[in-house]
Amino acid sequence: MSETSIEWTDATWNPVAGCTILSAGCTNCYAMRMAARLDAMGVEKYRGLTRKTGGRAKWTGKIFLDDAALAIPFGWSRPRSIFVNSMSDLFHPDVPVQFIEKVWSVMGATRRHTFQILTKRPDRMANILSNGFDVLPNVWLGTSVENDEVLGRLDDLRAVPAAIRFVSFEPLIGSVAGGQMSGIDWAIVGGESGPNSRPLDPVWIDEIFDMCFAAKTAFFFKQWGGTNKKAAGRAYRGQTWDEMPALSM
Ligand code: SF4
Repeated sequence: MSETSIEWTDATWNPVAGCTILSAGCTNCYAMRMAARLDAMGVEKYRGLTRKTGGRAKWTGKIFLDDAALAIPFGWSRPRSIFVNSMSDLFHPDVPVQFIEKVWSVMGATRRHTFQILTKRPDRMANILSNGFDVLPNVWLGTSVENDEVLGRLDDLRAVPAAIRFVSFEPLIGSVAGGQMSGIDWAIVGGESGPNSRPLDPVWIDEIFDMCFAAKTAFFFKQWGGTNKKAAGRAYRGQTWDEMPALSM
């Protein structure tokens, strides 16, 4: 069962919408484009979250906290993997701690599900979660790393109390060979897709593969990307890599 085309999860859940660009990996943000489309279709939740500049959609910085969406995981009776906030960043500075507490209480009350949270702000994630938040066994916490300019996010992630820590190296737009994966359970690797996609050098994947092997980190190769991501496929070293982190619950 899958309600999303994202290869490593079953469903998306967006209690927050809206964001601001932070680093090079955000340039072609899919959520930003999709939010503009949903706004144009009249979906209230996305109203005013983006505006057009130079023919492209840009976040305005407005953040929408969707209290009504908090009920959604309760209505999913069968267990599923849920990517939290595909249309935002839960640890954006304008998401109040009180709202993050509400998200935590939903995830704590629906332990049949596995929640996967990805942020580009793992420093804020570490600060907040180190102060009185439960480590939930069904919540995986991750950060995105696109090049070596943001390698510090790996150390920030290691400081996050979590059952499972993971890194999304997507869109991979530079070498991250200066990093290492100790204390991190899972790596997702993928190239950028879409019309303005930046190229993926296979050497950068080899570097991550070796880092994962050294640290016994599960390796998931999502896609080569490019303008025709389907044609480019998912094979690396002649096979697909769909490893998932080992759970010690
Ligand atoms: S942090 Fe994520 S959602 Fe926010 S602009 Fe960057 S890529 Fe988009």
